Amino acid sequence: MRIPEWKKIAVIGSTGNLGRQTLDVLENLGLRDSVVLLSGGSNFTILREEARKFERAELHLFDSKAGEELERMLGRRVFKGLKDLELLLEDLKPDLVFVEISGLKSLKVVLKSLEISKRVALASKESLVVGGKFVLEKYKRMRDTELIPVDSEHSAIFQLLLGEKKENLDEIVLTASGGALRDWDLTRMKDARIDDVLKHPVWKMGKKITVDSATMVNKVMEIVEARYLFEIPFERIRALLHREGLIHSMVKFTDGIWKIHFGFPNMKKPIAFSITYPYRLRTDEKFIDPLKLLNISLEEIDRNRYPIFDLFDRMLNLPSSSFIVFNVADEIAVREFLNGRIPFSAISVIISNTVLRFDHFEPRDLKDVHEIDGVGRRMAEEEVEKWV
Ligand code: MG
Repeated sequence: MRIPEWKKIAVIGSTGNLGRQTLDVLENLGLRDSVVLLSGGSNFTILREEARKFERAELHLFDSKAGEELERMLGRRVFKGLKDLELLLEDLKPDLVFVEISGLKSLKVVLKSLEISKRVALASKESLVVGGKFVLEKYKRMRDTELIPVDSEHSAIFQLLLGEKKENLDEIVLTASGGALRDWDLTRMKDARIDDVLKHPVWKMGKKITVDSATMVNKVMEIVEARYLFEIPFERIRALLHREGLIHSMVKFTDGIWKIHFGFPNMKKPIAFSITYPYRLRTDEKFIDPLKLLNISLEEIDRNRYPIFDLFDRMLNLPSSSFIVFNVADEIAVREFLNGRIPFSAISVIISNTVLRFDHFEPRDLKDVHEIDGVGRRMAEEEVEKWV
């Protein structure tokens, strides 16, 4: 098996669910000694474990207190905060950077990574939701840097488009599992408990994204992600409910031909692809029987169950500050749901009310992005208070 020669690899978000799977894949590919940077949020226990295994790596935590704690435990330097991370990236110049963190901070990390590396493996959809046009601008300027999606649907689309001219692309269909409550009675769904929402039928992921799957906020974000990654207008991106999780997305070309990405749902596949591209892994695992295609279902998304799509339709007529407010309102609503302060059904309402209250405009720079995030955050917190 051939893979590109990676000398220095950074994993930003290594303590999260996806980050830990990424480290597994890197280890299996024999790349343990190429990992030069591990970065987490505040979980110093996990980062300490990882540091033991990936001995060559510099350590970073976004949370300063947690960073100091780990520094005391290990008796060595731990870098802290966003500024430190940007400096570290400049200093180490890893050739492959995984960006697997959530929230607004991912935008700056992606921009910096595009500047200094050969390849950015991108899982942080938020960076494209809050700053897609800035990421696209930078990506186009950095001609030698590749941007490879890690999100399963987008990795699928990226693979389906290999060898195709941009003008051949006519339509993208993103598949959606529907999350943990997809078959619940609508009246019961309003008061679903945290445990219920965290039982995802297909993927095992972090808490935030699992809640975002149940509301389909995740799918709305993925539509925006696809819009920027593949530069296709919103009218030509559609989401469909697909229960089996075997089709990871579909692409239609101008001659009416569809290509479908079909395989077992396993996040390690898109992670591995982002490392091995343009080569593929060799695996001796059991292959999926193509006869499974006989029992595959695709359904229109029910807007009574997923009202966030009604908001999304309205956002398409608003300047792109609406996506920034959408992102931060969701962050706060999900946090408060997981804190047990608001019911499940409040999440979509809080996001909608916050987005529709905001006086929208087109952000000119990152300063604008931060300002919109700040005002949106305060508004979302006010909307939460109406429920508690
Ligand atoms: Mg996805």
